[in-house]
Amino acid sequence: MNPLGLFGGTFDPIHYGHLRTAFELREALRLEELRFLPTGNPPHRDQTSASAEMRLAMVRAAVADQPGFTVDDREVRRTGLSYSVDTLTELRAEHPERSLCLLLGMDAFLGLPNWHRWTDILELAHVVVAHRPGWKAPTQGPLGEAMVDRGTGSVRELRELKAGRIYVHAVTQLEISSTELRQLIASGRNPRYLVPDSVCALLQDTGCYARRQ
Ligand code: ATP
Repeated sequence: MNPLGLFGGTFDPIHYGHLRTAFELREALRLEELRFLPTGNPPHRDQTSASAEMRLAMVRAAVADQPGFTVDDREVRRTGLSYSVDTLTELRAEHPERSLCLLLGMDAFLGLPNWHRWTDILELAHVVVAHRPGWKAPTQGPLGEAMVDRGTGSVRELRELKAGRIYVHAVTQLEISSTELRQLIASGRNPRYLVPDSVCALLQDTGCYARRQ
């Protein structure tokens, strides 16, 4: 059965760093489907960031013309606290026999031990880690140990087993960050060529992230 790729994030906004990473991982893992899962509205969120609906709309616009890229809005629709482990539990129930591959940037992977029930996440899915500029793979601590126990260099294993492996893959480094994009737009500059044109159009139409006068 073809593995299902899962790419979660706040996508506030989605940019070419996310999209190119997803594209290269989809090719490397030969994924038929790669699903983007924008998070719901996290508590204590910075007031200047976009609503969950706007972030979802930008993700939909960004992937609309790419076959194999899909969008799953379950976290946006969920009310109350939303944890990745809950999403993965639901997806596992929907796809009992399928390999699930959770795609993470190295920065997100390094924070994994702070996630709710993080060791359960590794029982529910594989974790595929994309290198990001300036971040090193862990060699010590709980993640270093997990890398020793669960690390693999085999795409075949990711396809044949349903969960439990950690796979690190180098992707083209595009040092674009959502935080810097929000600042760039707030200062009146144009985000063109950092985000798809369809996202640019949405940002222009809505005035999202623009500093209110
Ligand atoms: P911020 O800049 O506000 O921290 P972010 O883009 O890092 O935002 P998310 O949108 O939550 O945050 O990121 C979703 C996923 O995409 C994470 O796994 C993150 O590591 C990865 N990611 C983000 N930016 C890049 C990039 N430029 N290249 C590769 N992966 C990225």
